[in-house]
Amino acid sequence: QLLGDQLDLRRLDGQRGIDSGTARHDTQELSRAVARDQLRVHYQPIVDLRSGRVDAVEALVRWQHPTRGLLTPDAFLPLAEAAGLVHIVDRWVLRTAVTSVARWRRLSPSLRDLRVAVNISVGPFLDEVWAHEVQDVLTATGLPPAALTVEVTERSLSSTSPESLAALEVLIRSGCHVAIDDLGTGTSSLALLADIPATELKIDRSFVQSMATDPRRAALVRAMACLGSELGLDVVAEGVEDRRTAEMVTEVGCTHGQGYLWSAPRDVSGLLTLLLP
Ligand code: C2E
Ligand code: CA
Ligand code: CA
Ligand code: CA
Repeated sequence: QLLGDQLDLRRLDGQRGIDSGTARHDTQELSRAVARDQLRVHYQPIVDLRSGRVDAVEALVRWQHPTRGLLTPDAFLPLAEAAGLVHIVDRWVLRTAVTSVARWRRLSPSLRDLRVAVNISVGPFLDEVWAHEVQDVLTATGLPPAALTVEVTERSLSSTSPESLAALEVLIRSGCHVAIDDLGTGTSSLALLADIPATELKIDRSFVQSMATDPRRAALVRAMACLGSELGLDVVAEGVEDRRTAEMVTEVGCTHGQGYLWSAPRDVSGLLTLLLP
């Protein structure tokens, strides 16, 4: 599998004709990072606002760089995206996170119902072949489809292909969840919400964070939560950093919250320390 990805990478690298020498160097380094086991997954809890319990964790990629230290996605994902390599990172994170969460559910009664969310970049690789690969990973690890959420950003969905929409349909039909991520930051029309197969909305933290001080943003959060509940979707408020905001997002009808109030993303041992009794 890894070897296949490596070959894929070289071909893509040549095809896209990356012009700057530095970019080429960084790209080669990134493609080796997967093979050299330098990628990591950190996990951030997503809390059910009614019960106050951790319902799911979002998998967030990190790169343990040999000289630059632990890098967050903004330091390397844009490059991966430009080079057409991001699907390799996404596949690795999906496989790693699903395998881990399936194991935690088996090993610990208190994590029996834990769900996991992974981020997927929308692109030519998001097609039905990919959807079947996801199903194969679920089958191989024994994670039930209902325990997986695939997050795709609103921004990327506005220019998506029929193949990608079909792939998301396949996942939903098989019982997986699909979340529209960073809602409010794209330029898509409301019609998107009618057309995109989704089971969940995630309101971007730029709205949530300023809601306590900005009545207009608060009104938009309320409207998005309302839209979600009318469409029968779960609504996650991102970037909740304090109690007051948690109360406000609960009042306007968000079903879930995520943010530093509960926890920043953590490595595996940090997460398990938080979640295990
Ligand atoms: P995202 O999907 O919106 O993920 C949430 C980001 O918000 C994370 O940043 C998280 O650390 C940060 N965050 C969470 N709670 C709070 C809070 O209360 N306050 C503040 N200020 N920030 C908070 P991170 O880990 O740096 O990830 C950045 C973005 O990179 C993610 O945004 C996601 O779009 C992308 N990303 C991460 N992992 C992957 C991946 O495996 N594949 C793809 N395609 N994208 C990924
Ligand atoms: Ca996300
Ligand atoms: Ca988000
Ligand atoms: Ca965001």
